[in-house]
Amino acid sequence: MTTPQPSASASRAARGEPVLCVEGLQTHFDLRQWGFVRVGSVRAVDGVDFTLDAGETVAVVGESGCGKSSLARTLLALHRPTDGAIRFDGTPLNGLSGSALKAYRGRVGYVQQDPYGALPPFMDIQRILAEPLIIHGVRGRAERARRIDAALEEVGLTPAADTRGKFPHQLSGGQQQRVVIARALLLRPAMIIADEPVSMLDASVRVEILELLRRVQREHHLALLYITHDLSTVRHYVDRAMVMYGGRIVEQAPVAELLARPGHPYTEALLSALGDPDADNAHRQREVPGGEPPSLIQPPSGCRFHPRCRHAMPGKCELEPPPPDFRPRPDHRIACWLHE
Ligand code: SF4
Repeated sequence: MTTPQPSASASRAARGEPVLCVEGLQTHFDLRQWGFVRVGSVRAVDGVDFTLDAGETVAVVGESGCGKSSLARTLLALHRPTDGAIRFDGTPLNGLSGSALKAYRGRVGYVQQDPYGALPPFMDIQRILAEPLIIHGVRGRAERARRIDAALEEVGLTPAADTRGKFPHQLSGGQQQRVVIARALLLRPAMIIADEPVSMLDASVRVEILELLRRVQREHHLALLYITHDLSTVRHYVDRAMVMYGGRIVEQAPVAELLARPGHPYTEALLSALGDPDADNAHRQREVPGGEPPSLIQPPSGCRFHPRCRHAMPGKCELEPPPPDFRPRPDHRIACWLHE
């Protein structure tokens, strides 16, 4: 059994401080004609606020194109924020470079959507896993081999000797994703960002991989940000859920509260489409509103959901964006004028 790693994050949690603090985050991408004339921008992340505690799992849920993967990549420092602040362990992420950026990347594990694409096909597993250890200064072949074997065995690839000499194409999709999770754990991170970690896997192994993520998250007291389009996977695996729409968080709450008492019409629509038998929303009309997800280049004015919302209030919703923090309960935040 794995011994939980003592971490600075755990002591921060004891002081009630979040590992990750995101305020007013915007990530926009310029649209350029002929490669240089700016003709607009894609507002992929457009004013996002949340915190993530040590030992906490938070889901970001939303349909394709809502900006959730851009949010993940901004938090991984793969995109530069246009505005706003990200603090990790109390340190601002904006403007990190060189060794400070490298140290940050060593403390944040990344589990990608496509495990085969995430693993270089021309390298065996031993070499794939040795690379981050070498980059982050873990010296000695024996020490690296010990840590690689421990990581492989921790994710259920036992004995490690059966896996480390193989190439990615010799593993199943589920085994490849286990290797990706082992790589994310190798440097003993404080936080893991898992971007649709099971959406490309066979249905038969999805639960196993989600169970694995939950187990390692608990054993290492990790902060885990779980990005998904599938609300049905959050109930048993996360503490809190945030619903994203049009580049913004429209609702966030503890997961049981969100599923039982959704407050935003978009969250209700997602749950209705799911037909969740346990959700206390049976009195709601079970249909998904028509229309397309909003353009992130020219988003709708006011509330971005108003063109699809059957509760939209003329003269209000299409004019004024609702603030993100109407609170029916202290830990439940909703961006909707219905809760004013
Ligand atoms: Fe619907 Fe208005 Fe609420 Fe937006 S603010 S979700 S349009 S009721």
